[in-house]
Amino acid sequence: MSQDIVAACREASGKEFPKPGLRRVSAWVEVDLAGLGRNVALIRADLPAAVGLMYVAKDDAYGLGAVPAVRTVLGAGGDSVAVVTLDEAAELRAAGIRAPILLMGERLEEEWPDVLELDLEPAIGSVAAAEALNRLATRMGRRVAVHLKINTGMNRFGFPWREVEQWSVRLARLDRLEVAGVFGHFAQSDEPDKTYARTQSGRFEGCLDRLREAGISPCRRHHANSGGALELPESHFDLVRVGILAHGVYPSASCRRVAGLEPVMTVKARVVAEQPVDPGDSVGYGMRWTATRRSRIGVMPVGYGDGYPRLRNEGRVLIRGRYVPVVGGVTMDALMVDLTEVPEAGVGDEGVLMGRQGGMEITPYELARLKRSVPYEILLGWRHRLPRVYLEGGGA
Ligand SMILES: *Cc1c(COP(=O)(O)O)cnc(C)c1O
Repeated sequence: MSQDIVAACREASGKEFPKPGLRRVSAWVEVDLAGLGRNVALIRADLPAAVGLMYVAKDDAYGLGAVPAVRTVLGAGGDSVAVVTLDEAAELRAAGIRAPILLMGERLEEEWPDVLELDLEPAIGSVAAAEALNRLATRMGRRVAVHLKINTGMNRFGFPWREVEQWSVRLARLDRLEVAGVFGHFAQSDEPDKTYARTQSGRFEGCLDRLREAGISPCRRHHANSGGALELPESHFDLVRVGILAHGVYPSASCRRVAGLEPVMTVKARVVAEQPVDPGDSVGYGMRWTATRRSRIGVMPVGYGDGYPRLRNEGRVLIRGRYVPVVGGVTMDALMVDLTEVPEAGVGDEGVLMGRQGGMEITPYELARLKRSVPYEILLGWRHRLPRVYLEGGGA
């Protein structure tokens, strides 16, 4: 098993390590690229044919590894990509990805030259930003495709929807900007109450009308994230921006399901040590767990330094198809589990910290609840200390 993983690591990264055998084989993140491709095809099939699919690959594709994830999605029916930082975009371009890249968020003035250099389609959220970019484009003798970001109620980035009459007229004068897209973003799209989402969509449509009157008719209008893609067909417009759903994880517990979607990220670690303890013995920092019987403690080499939540006597791991409880506090580099109930388990066994083993599963939701967070933070919280192992041809 361990040699397989070493080989897979080497192949996936495409790098020659000084000593490939030194790559960490005791804990890793498995990314099911074949599953990612299947998910994207299922989401595509769930959308009307005229609606495009933009893959939101920010934060290293939610921890999957941006380059392999983006390649897979583009090969499976995605037609464009969105990221947030210039570094993220540069990584994709350096890997030879030529698809349109929407650069979301706001830019500071010194970032504009790189936006042009990398041939990105930046989000523009203010007249000042639009004018600065237009000036630069004029100097360079070129035109730039942009997506206007409208603040329809999230109140984070974008042109205020209420002032559309003012800013649309000023934008129409900027002859170097080509408005390829116009978009907004939902503050809430995946909960049962859609009132605010509908208000936002209505504001967005009002802005589109005003823009048309000002002579701006973008071909790509978009407002939906995963929640909107699932639940708000009236917000689909020309494309949906999908991140988490492509990874087989739903944005909320209540939203509509798409049959066949599978989670693509699995976090695994092997048992690397065992400790026999007697009744009254404690485990870990602060002596937070005390054995009440003779017990066998297994040690997994994953801790909060790898992105596992810093739990204490909470959480569980799948080993040999059974749930075993985390005992004591999770440390930076390791966590301890009680193996007493699974006598056949021992050093070398593969455990699952997030994902499926046999018919059992530990979901990002379960970890999010324990961390008092959301599945998004759990997915992208797995740090790069855990090598990514890419599976091209089948499930985990
Ligand atoms: C992150 C993000 C998305 C994707 O959200 P998901 O819920 O993961 O689909 C879409 N649009 C914007 C503006 C985002 O920041």
